Amino acid sequence: MEKWICCTCGTQFGEMDGQPEACPICEDERQYVKEAGQAWTSLNTLIRSGQLKNDILQEERGIYSITTKPGFAIGQTAYLIQTEAGNVLWDCITYLDEETIAKVQELGGINAIALSHPHYYSSQVEWAEAFGCPVYIHEDDSQWVMRNSENIRFWSGEHHELFGGITLSRLGGHFKGGAVLNWEAGKNGKGILFSGDIIQVVADRNWVSFMYSYPNSIPLPSKKVREIQQKISSIDFDRLYGAFHRIIRDDAKISVINSAQRYISALEGTLFET
Ligand SMILES: [Zn+2]
Ligand SMILES: [Zn+2]
Repeated sequence: MEKWICCTCGTQFGEMDGQPEACPICEDERQYVKEAGQAWTSLNTLIRSGQLKNDILQEERGIYSITTKPGFAIGQTAYLIQTEAGNVLWDCITYLDEETIAKVQELGGINAIALSHPHYYSSQVEWAEAFGCPVYIHEDDSQWVMRNSENIRFWSGEHHELFGGITLSRLGGHFKGGAVLNWEAGKNGKGILFSGDIIQVVADRNWVSFMYSYPNSIPLPSKKVREIQQKISSIDFDRLYGAFHRIIRDDAKISVINSAQRYISALEGTLFET
């Protein structure tokens, strides 16, 4: 029996005898199976290889980034947010070793894990078991959970309040249950939004994008982006942390609203002529 991990998206599956037949997350239009075909590994194999290490960096007061080096699967960054009411891990990464557990324990451990969308479910249940905490996932994405656990709590509706001034909001778009996390005490009370790739910070740091599929370049329809723009208008934040360690430090809400406008104009053919 083994808990297999898909090498392309980093998702860990529940315990089974043989390898899974396929990875539904990678076979979905939003992801892809590598040209060489499906490949599987396990957390024990990754740990034994000695090739991976998690970098834990303090980004600012109360925020630590956790990224696997030199990189595994999608390569996203998870964030540990320290509030006076407990710590939240926003999004997750596959690799978890004793050194990581010890360092995170030193920072106060994890009281809740919250996920933006299925591409980062990774080995969320391993993390939940290591720290004895629940995992919050929007119920509209429940079909993408590949390892069930009693630690998983499905939330519903548009908002879910955790603790310490942290609220999850469903923006949808990239995934139906696609969620962002707002920490109202962040940036001295101006608010910090953690967006996964529900809102993706692009190369030009004043702008973001909103895609159905990033690797396959499939855009979202303008009506969805308009919905996201409306939902974001009701959340107060000034800084934004994206999934790949890209940060909009100031006036991030204005950047998101302007980016939604630009995206809609591009789709509707009024932004440029080529
Ligand atoms: Zn996969
Ligand atoms: Zn994604």
